[in-house]
Amino acid sequence: MNGTRKAEFVDEIPIQYVKTVGEKRARALETVGIYTVEDLLEYRPRRYLDRSNVVPISQVKVDEEVTVTGEVIQVEVVRRGRRRLRVQIYDRTGVLEGIWFHQIEVFSRIFQVGMTVAFSGKVTRFKGWQMVHPDFDIISEKGAPIHTGQIIPLYPSGEALRKVGFSSYGIRRLVHLALERYQSAVPETLPTYLIERYRLLPRAMAYRQMHFPESETLLHQAYRRFKYEELFYMELLMALRKRVYQSPVTGLTMSIQNDVLKRIVDSLPFQLTGAQRRVLREIYQDLKSGHPMNRLLQGDVGSGKTVVALLTMLMAISAGYQAALMAPTEILAQQHYFSIKEMLKPFDVRVGLLIGSLKAAEKARMHQAIRQGEVDLVIGTHALIQEPVEFHRLGVVVIDEQHRFGVLQRAELIEKGQNPHVLVMTATPIPRTLALTLYGDLDVSIIDELPPGRQPITTVWRTEDRLPRIYDFIRERVKQGEQAYIVYPIIEESEKIDLKAATVAFENLQQKVFPEFKLALLHGRLKMEEKEHIMQQFKEGKIQILISTTVIEVGVDVPNATIMLIEHAERFGLSQLHQLRGRVGRGARKSYCILVTPAEISEVARQRMRAMEATTDGFKIAEEDLRLRGSGEFFGTRQHGLPDLRYADLVADAKIVEAARKDAFALIERDPHLRLAEHAIVRRQFMRKFADKFQMAHIA
Ligand code: ADP
Ligand code: MG
Repeated sequence: MNGTRKAEFVDEIPIQYVKTVGEKRARALETVGIYTVEDLLEYRPRRYLDRSNVVPISQVKVDEEVTVTGEVIQVEVVRRGRRRLRVQIYDRTGVLEGIWFHQIEVFSRIFQVGMTVAFSGKVTRFKGWQMVHPDFDIISEKGAPIHTGQIIPLYPSGEALRKVGFSSYGIRRLVHLALERYQSAVPETLPTYLIERYRLLPRAMAYRQMHFPESETLLHQAYRRFKYEELFYMELLMALRKRVYQSPVTGLTMSIQNDVLKRIVDSLPFQLTGAQRRVLREIYQDLKSGHPMNRLLQGDVGSGKTVVALLTMLMAISAGYQAALMAPTEILAQQHYFSIKEMLKPFDVRVGLLIGSLKAAEKARMHQAIRQGEVDLVIGTHALIQEPVEFHRLGVVVIDEQHRFGVLQRAELIEKGQNPHVLVMTATPIPRTLALTLYGDLDVSIIDELPPGRQPITTVWRTEDRLPRIYDFIRERVKQGEQAYIVYPIIEESEKIDLKAATVAFENLQQKVFPEFKLALLHGRLKMEEKEHIMQQFKEGKIQILISTTVIEVGVDVPNATIMLIEHAERFGLSQLHQLRGRVGRGARKSYCILVTPAEISEVARQRMRAMEATTDGFKIAEEDLRLRGSGEFFGTRQHGLPDLRYADLVADAKIVEAARKDAFALIERDPHLRLAEHAIVRRQFMRKFADKFQMAHIA
């Protein structure tokens, strides 16, 4: 806050200024991110109690999970039998007691006769109705000072907060106080015409209804307002970025040498599918059009995206340009490098590899070759555009498995003075609105056809006790000349332990289970040459069973491998499992994916296993994944340089996304520097929210 000027807005008023909040309580509030009055208003109830979810005590049933509320009529430490705390509550229809066997002293201090509380838990019956160790909330202290409406907000609390009197109840009282005192200091952040257009609640009103809803409808309205506001500002950020990074209307106009392309297509060991041809025609038009291509290519795992990438790059190369292919991992970059080099052997194309783990001298040499135009086609990881790489004449960039990257590469490229055509490829189907929001304006091509002759993959889920029989099965198939993957999860948090587990498992498998075959262990910590050597041997069939961590998740292509065994499958996400499964079923022989988990796994994990058994359709898998995880985590909004969403969900609220996008873009179109008086509030709010995400110089 500015020392002399009086604070006007809730976002400038320190929480300590609110009556009853002193130094100590302010420190406690800071632990949950509350520094200003606005932060407090943004502290959302974690749930609400109302008639639809609170059960009268007279209607509870044994073994049901319910919430009841009532006045505390007795608090007693019972010494007969096992020592326990008994808290009786009464709600005018009956009596129920909460029982605590542990931390009796702590809890007996919390509950006091006369206060109103809520208990949530499973109902048991022992003489009367009981709940053992229920979740509880204090709704009001004895002689409650705040009228509790029909809908009661419950707030997240915790040790640090409770210690200074901020139980769910204490927080509610504070919010109430803050709203009474500072409601008029809540600034509106949306222009009047938008509030009117959608009949949104004014911001101050929305806070009031979020914390002390007068009805279900008003509560819903409050959230609708905050969702819209949040999405509006996110789209405003997109709109401004787009303005700044907007590609010039002119792109490279390429004179593609059709005869060169034809010779290469003819040399392929297979015929392109109809879908591949269609997509290539679309790309061909783009490259000749003079407009910069910005195209998203979606195609399920195994649909043959790589060859489309290759031919796209060759179009540009035949027209005298350089092309770059970016892969999400080094191992995949290497694999593309070796297979593309092999395919292009008969042709006059110079291929280079640029990845982080090259030796400094090799890297420098590659940089120079790229700069001087001595390589035509460069394959690499993200390093390709992050590092000080200068291209001689970059014509097209292909980005593989886009879902693992951020979205700003195009901007990065443009900032480096390049405006190449861009093709991004992904196996994750993304709904149209989302694609627009995440990637800005782009065209979408879809490969909706798998190459012919693919055998469907059979997927089964088994528990660990079945492993010996699964190993027998693998032995039989490998004797027939087929190959197998066995995958172990490694999660970052416990990388060392997991890696050790994988190593132990590998040694056991090699020595005890499959002594007659050659096995190898592949993981991310190996040196590049080692990884490459192992992959090469596996490709040539010299290694029959590859034990691996998830480094093979994307893109690895060995058609002779027919079995994918995934241990601890419950630790993987659905899309990851689908990617892993996509490593088999690439040849003409029948393939299997075997998911192994402990007998006891969570319900969500169970649903994932069932989804994997039920379908091999990547689109269905993605939908299910979205349903199970929610869109934020699924798309990693943050990794896309977008703000975290606290209210809205990009999928569930697709309609609001669309409206907010239209409005934000229209606003920027009309007032690109946010100079109009009616947009002053928008400007202020935008600066506050995104000062770190956006170079303010661009709108100043
Ligand atoms: P993804 O779309 O998952 O990247 P790939 O490009 O790795 O798939 O292709 C999977 C496999 O299918 C590869 O072995 C590739 O050579 C093969 N393939 C691609 N297109 C065809 C085709 N038209 N006919 C037969 N096989 C093909
Ligand atoms: Mg691929």
